Amino acid sequence: MKWWPSVLLVLLAAASGCSAPAARAVLAPPAPRAPRFIRVGVVEGKRTAIHTVRLEEYVQATSISEFAPASGDLDVVERMLEVQAVVGRTYALAHLGRHARGGFDLCATTHCQLYEPARLRTSRWAAAAAEAAQQTSGSVLWFDGAAASVLFHADCGGHTSNSADVWGGPGRPYLVGIADDGPAESAHAAWRFEATRDAVMRALNADPRTRVGARLDGIKILERDAAGRALRVALHAQQERIVGGGLLREVLARALGARTVRSTWFDVRRGRGTFVFEGRGFGHGVGLCQAGALARIRAGTRLPAILQRYFPGTRLITLG
Ligand SMILES: [Zn+2]
Ligand SMILES: [Zn+2]
Repeated sequence: MKWWPSVLLVLLAAASGCSAPAARAVLAPPAPRAPRFIRVGVVEGKRTAIHTVRLEEYVQATSISEFAPASGDLDVVERMLEVQAVVGRTYALAHLGRHARGGFDLCATTHCQLYEPARLRTSRWAAAAAEAAQQTSGSVLWFDGAAASVLFHADCGGHTSNSADVWGGPGRPYLVGIADDGPAESAHAAWRFEATRDAVMRALNADPRTRVGARLDGIKILERDAAGRALRVALHAQQERIVGGGLLREVLARALGARTVRSTWFDVRRGRGTFVFEGRGFGHGVGLCQAGALARIRAGTRLPAILQRYFPGTRLITLG
């Protein structure tokens, strides 16, 4: 499924006065095309079925799977679905073939992007999602000659993080931490989660990477990134450990629920036989903050300005 710009051979006539025309190969200005179809791997029972779907249908389904508020103003929801459509389309193009070994492009879970096409029949926002995909048809965020590796999350807590801080590696120049202030200032939520020490210990012992043994005395954050997200955390326990903040959240959320330790931006202290986590935001905190984007839409900010805010330095282009 190649979609790179084709090199156009353009025959240019030689300047007047020259009898024989000269042939020159000229690289056409970037006129990349989007693929018409992508292959989505959908788990059905014990096997993964490969669904070949039109890209724009995928964009509709994934935008409504990743953003489906319980209520809201139709116009605001549709504008947010437009933002989500551009981000979802860009993500899909940047990650074509991510599951090439399995014979498809993207999976249908949050590992890639949620893809629940049934929502296009059942959701009250289905018509808005179709309209949003149509309104933004072919629009993607472009960086350095390719679709940008965009990411999003539910709520940054007030500041996004550098991808390099959260996951290591070289990072991307447009995945940098920004203060999500201005119209987004009051869009962010704080959370609190308290669990018995036993429950936390059992959760940690369920994963070999965070196994602490028969006693857990304390959890201490050793290092944070510029936003405040925990990067390194000490587990004072029978088996002393230092673990990454992301891993700690992943392990606790898997055992205790996604809405428990909602982000790595937290403080933790001991209660009476418990651990008390108090934090901000929901999700990894890199790239577009849905809560902030929604607040910006309500304040009248247009789609290009919103995307520029969360992905600085990318270009919004329309593919053929
Ligand atoms: Zn995947
Ligand atoms: Zn935010």
